[in-house]
Amino acid sequence: MKMFDGDRAKNGVKIVIFALILAGLTGCNFFGGTGKSTGQSSATNEPRKPNVEFNGEMSKVIPNVYTARKELSLTFNGLGDKKTILALLDELDNYHIKATFFVPGMRVAEEPDLVKEIVARGHEIENNTLNRLDMTKLSYEQMVDEIGLSNDVIKKNTGITPKYVRTRSGDYNDNVRLAAAYNGMDAVVVYSMFLHNWQQESDDEKELYVRKYINRGGIITVDTEENNNVVESIPILARAAAEVGYGFIPLSQLIEHGGIRKPYTEIKGYDAVKINPNYKDAKYNLIYDKETDKKEIALTFDDWGTDYTITKILDILAEHDVKATFFLRAKGVEANPNLARAMIEGGHDVANHSYTHPVVTTLSAEALQEDVVKAHQVITEAIQQQPTMLFRPPTGEIDDQTAKVIAAIGYPDIALYDVTTFDWDSKNSAEDIVNSIMKQTENGSVILLHMLDDIHTIEALPTAIERLKEKGFTFVKMADLIGLKK
Ligand SMILES: [Zn+2]
Repeated sequence: MKMFDGDRAKNGVKIVIFALILAGLTGCNFFGGTGKSTGQSSATNEPRKPNVEFNGEMSKVIPNVYTARKELSLTFNGLGDKKTILALLDELDNYHIKATFFVPGMRVAEEPDLVKEIVARGHEIENNTLNRLDMTKLSYEQMVDEIGLSNDVIKKNTGITPKYVRTRSGDYNDNVRLAAAYNGMDAVVVYSMFLHNWQQESDDEKELYVRKYINRGGIITVDTEENNNVVESIPILARAAAEVGYGFIPLSQLIEHGGIRKPYTEIKGYDAVKINPNYKDAKYNLIYDKETDKKEIALTFDDWGTDYTITKILDILAEHDVKATFFLRAKGVEANPNLARAMIEGGHDVANHSYTHPVVTTLSAEALQEDVVKAHQVITEAIQQQPTMLFRPPTGEIDDQTAKVIAAIGYPDIALYDVTTFDWDSKNSAEDIVNSIMKQTENGSVILLHMLDDIHTIEALPTAIERLKEKGFTFVKMADLIGLKK
């Protein structure tokens, strides 16, 4: 208890001292008490403390934005030295990137012209707190001060009222959210990727690393004080985004374009799949293909990958006007739900390929049901609608008992395939994959492909589609091919 009080007092003293420095730096009128929306202002040099604990709603926390558009944001923390920031601004101009700078109020007070230059170049300014102290160690009242004073300095020097706050590390707790709300801010912004200093990576390794984080709705963060290569990181990020046709836009636009992702419990059909211990008599269908005279076939893609791979698959399918069925590994979807939503917006079907990708015959009935139910919920929330009610077992392995266990929870239709190309093995070239497809495909075929990274499927896909079309085949979604009841 004593320790805690001691820390509190020390931090309180720190804030008063910083406030005094600020007052000195920014003129006597600094604590004049104007321009404050919801926070309290005082006409003295005392830190502002709310008279009562703020009991309003906590502000939102935004780690990424719900959108399937090919957009993301580049944000910076801190305000490095003038030379670095000016070089950074030039590099951003070179790549036509408009970014969002989370600046500490103290640094704005020290370098108002530099911050004005950032604004003049078309970038956004947001609040990185006053001194970038470890917010989780501050009391609620100290946080209110940290955030409020920083807002004041930014407003005074740039005319901009910050809407978002972020702590130095991105860490936050309930008190940070309450203090942000108390100061009238829209959200505590976290990040989807924090780009720290490189170690010994080669250029190729840097490229591959960054590629994984170029996600729709992503918020990439680089600290301009901590990162020694902040300027050099811009071309790497810009190239990685350009590779998949994604663009960096200012954070407030990204958030404006985004929607609100509802929890799965608010989406119709989330409860179509439930744990069911009475599976002994459950009926199931194992579906490999469709008996038909029509030259219809279904393209299906399994597993999960990065935006780099999956967006290319979506682009190729759109170019050739082909609709496909995606069987998703839900653990991957959980980390990047916008990419699953992009499949739906592309007109494709999304179905269940388990959560952890186990060989289903190796799990207990209970564990298997839990895995598939969880996958259903995760996918439902990601795509914001009920998935297509097909389950495909990882590796294709299934037996009578396992099929009943899966059928009983609400997935009676087990989606297998008759055309398999071993495209998941990177030893198989694009040509191998195309040849394999052409040899096996017939009326009513279900073709199995994968959306994994670093395999040759995206190279094979355009040729395979063109050759199949030349043979007179048309592509339908698997549910339509087999006449799945909806
Ligand atoms: Zn799989």
